[in-house]
Amino acid sequence: PARPHRELVRPRPGPPCSSKHNPPIRIMQWNILAQALGEGKDGFIRCPLDALCWHQRKYQILEEMLSLRPDVLCLQEVDHYHDTFQPIMARLGYHGSFLPKPWSPCLDVEDNNGPDGCALFYRRSRFSPLSTARLRLSAMMLPTNQVAIAQTLRCRVTGRRLCVAVTHLKARSGWERLRSAQGADLLQSLQSITAHGSGLEGAEPGAVPLVVCGDFNAEPSEDVYRRFSSSPLGLSSAYKLLSSDGQSEPAYTTWKIRPSGESRGTLDYIWYSQQALSVEGLLELPTEEQIGPDRLPSYHYPSDHLSLLCDISFREEEKSDGLE
Ligand code: NDP
Ligand code: CA
Repeated sequence: PARPHRELVRPRPGPPCSSKHNPPIRIMQWNILAQALGEGKDGFIRCPLDALCWHQRKYQILEEMLSLRPDVLCLQEVDHYHDTFQPIMARLGYHGSFLPKPWSPCLDVEDNNGPDGCALFYRRSRFSPLSTARLRLSAMMLPTNQVAIAQTLRCRVTGRRLCVAVTHLKARSGWERLRSAQGADLLQSLQSITAHGSGLEGAEPGAVPLVVCGDFNAEPSEDVYRRFSSSPLGLSSAYKLLSSDGQSEPAYTTWKIRPSGESRGTLDYIWYSQQALSVEGLLELPTEEQIGPDRLPSYHYPSDHLSLLCDISFREEEKSDGLE
């Protein structure tokens, strides 16, 4: 069955920053639901079993990933990287990186396909690679089971640099302090990457424009959200711009029914450097009616998380980009 259409909307009035010489960069954030977790651990009691069958679900994931032709894809819970996404995306002109979790819960599931982790793809025709950081997140100096990839790129059209990071923070309630510490660790690494990546001696953190995509497993009321919105990197959450006042996050990015009950939450975000980047388009979220009474995943939506997608462009001339 056809998926309900999602509209791409312009968040603000006024002239766009993008132009022929500065075309927008389309970024997708999506927790695609690890196959092993969806079938073996999650207990989505209202999702028909055959909607979870990999040989069908993978095409739905790919269709949703590719139909809007994103330039960058940031994915979580990828447990079919080597056998599915890497080869397919490579044939379509994308470069991919994958970082598995040190102890993926997928490995506890019988007949699993290996560990799940974060994946980052970018379109080779749009970007050339500058550097890649593969991070295991720490909390209170101790290594944790969560990871991030930070990829610094050069846009082939504008010549500008862009750092894109993907992460998946610790899940479940009771772990708010761990998430906050993981977020602090990631911000610390990104401050150094976006200063050094500028190629300028003594550059400030955030000298390279930054986009951070992730399943933060945290509502906007949590400490880790506050950390990201008040860091020295000047980050703002793109999806706030969908709200009428530009100040509120969407009501949900995930919605599911487990034996323990129904759970609806805003856990996924696209953060961007407010000074250097402008959000020019956002993909609307499906309505409650479109999601339906059995919630997610379903025949229409292959994951319990909704994909987020935005068009971002460089604001005019940054002070010094360190191009030389
Ligand atoms: P998390 O708590 O971060 O959760 C892992 C996954 O479970 C996430 O993808 C999360 O999805 C999903 N999840 C969240 N809530 C539920 C729920 N109520 N029911 C089912 N799934 C849920 O896991 P950790 O990274 O901390 O890893 C914990 C697991 O890793 C352990 O259960 C164990 O299997 C394994 N492990 C093994 C070790 C070993 O020595 N062998 C050591 C450490 C861990 P979402 O983000 O979408 O909410
Ligand atoms: Ca999950």
